[in-house]
Amino acid sequence: MDVKIGVLALQGDVSEHIDAFEKALCLRRCGKASTVTEIRNPADLAGCAALAIPGGESTTISRLIDKNCLYGPICTFPGGIFATCAGMVLMANQVSDPRVHTLGLMDMTVDRNAFGRQRESFEAEIPVKGLEGGSFHAIFIRAPVVTAVGTGVNVLAALDEGIVAAEKGRYMALAFHPELGGDLRLHKRFLQNLGI
Ligand code: GLN
Repeated sequence: MDVKIGVLALQGDVSEHIDAFEKALCLRRCGKASTVTEIRNPADLAGCAALAIPGGESTTISRLIDKNCLYGPICTFPGGIFATCAGMVLMANQVSDPRVHTLGLMDMTVDRNAFGRQRESFEAEIPVKGLEGGSFHAIFIRAPVVTAVGTGVNVLAALDEGIVAAEKGRYMALAFHPELGGDLRLHKRFLQNLGI
């Protein structure tokens, strides 16, 4: 059966997410049919097993989600959600910036741009809970951190500043950008969690 994955294509690093998921699906499904498609409107979500919410500017993505009538359909979307950076901000139920209309899908508090000017963008080797093959080379770009988690949120990785990777059932939220580094282990783990 064809597996379809959507990438929210309103703003941010959409094409990098598409490439990464195409490669990860190829690795997980060895030649079986799969499609990665851009999501701009509620109808585009039909038949998708998962949705990626890319990095970008969470205030802008949030505004465009509302404008394109996607807020409700994403909140009730029954598939997996893979959210990076700005995507992580959107997944939370509490965010430091009131301009972000959070989806509230994960019980966590997020601080936007948490690394300040000195460490606005950096790379780090971080251990990720349960990830085989050693630490993950993580690329942070004006990244958020999670400062508190509630029920059902499993912390996967943290730095001194706060939590940078978390999972809740079919949702994965990452403060960094695995779609940029070429290491697809987190994509593969996300797909595996969904039985793909
Ligand atoms: N700082 C951005 C925000 O809060 C996120 C940056 C990113 O996605 N690379 O929206």
